[in-house]
Amino acid sequence: MSDTSSVKLIRYTDPTRQSLAHAAAVYLGKPDTDNVKRPLNIIKKGDTLAIFRGESARFEFRTSKVVYDHLITYTTMNMRACGGLRANEATVFVPPVEDDDPIYKEIGEAHLEAYRKLVHGIDPQTEDPIHKKRLQAARSVAPVSVELHYMMEFNFTTLIEAVFPQRIWTPGAQLDTRHVVMKMFALIREEDPELWDLIHDYYGPEAQAWKRLRMKLKLDQPELYEKLMAEYGVVRSMWD
Ligand SMILES: Cc1cc2nc3c(=O)[nH]c(=O)nc-3n(C[C@H](O)[C@H](O)[C@H](O)COP(=O)(O)OP(=O)(O)OC[C@H]3O[C@@H](n4cnc5c(N)ncnc54)[C@H](O)[C@@H]3O)c2cc1C
Repeated sequence: MSDTSSVKLIRYTDPTRQSLAHAAAVYLGKPDTDNVKRPLNIIKKGDTLAIFRGESARFEFRTSKVVYDHLITYTTMNMRACGGLRANEATVFVPPVEDDDPIYKEIGEAHLEAYRKLVHGIDPQTEDPIHKKRLQAARSVAPVSVELHYMMEFNFTTLIEAVFPQRIWTPGAQLDTRHVVMKMFALIREEDPELWDLIHDYYGPEAQAWKRLRMKLKLDQPELYEKLMAEYGVVRSMWD
């Protein structure tokens, strides 16, 4: 089944990286507040991502409510706006991306039609005119996978530490949500490829795999693990 979701980036707060550069200079007590390379060094050193919490990306989505339900779990999201099924009438059923059997579309659209008939004052069982039902009551019979139109804004730290790792950089997320979050990453990467490629390298799939690799190596090959740690694993204090 094809992916029908749409994602737009409608606001990216720091395309020139000047705002991050200023915060990074203050954070490290440096005078050159326009050094746009300094935020990159913060990523490379693995320092706190506090300055990245001050920048954000606002997205506008048209996805199934199933995907919306996944994205809304991020409590550290900056804002969201969604008319939802109380203020808006759902008109589009979104079939599952995992299975292209037409049975989902047939059943889903029949349920959506029943909901819409209730809203427009038609009894879906007899086709007789009835008193128009309120959207908030009629939605109880709508399918879960209807299209929603909404906006969400995430700060960069939430994207780097929670949304991207959980939904695209480690396996486990549902395919439809994965597609949407991949679009989110591609859109912000376009704004500042140097920054987001570096973030991908330091926090992306390789870095996530490395975390698991370390524990596996420690258990399976303790001698090799000790040797690698002694040779490459020494961490120095920033004050040395
Ligand atoms: C594959 C997958 C399956 C999932 N399955 C389920 C499921 O079955 N049921 C379900 O309910 N959810 C499920 N979730 C959602 C998941 O539990 C999280 O709610 C969601 O991914 C948000 O993650 P988060 O807490 O890291 O993000 P955020 O809420 O954005 O938080 C980011 C980070 O901020 C910190 N933080 C946030 N709030 C606080 C606080 N109050 N105090 C201190 N620190 C805080 C934490 O370090 C947190 O990791 C699933 C998620 C994934 C990726």
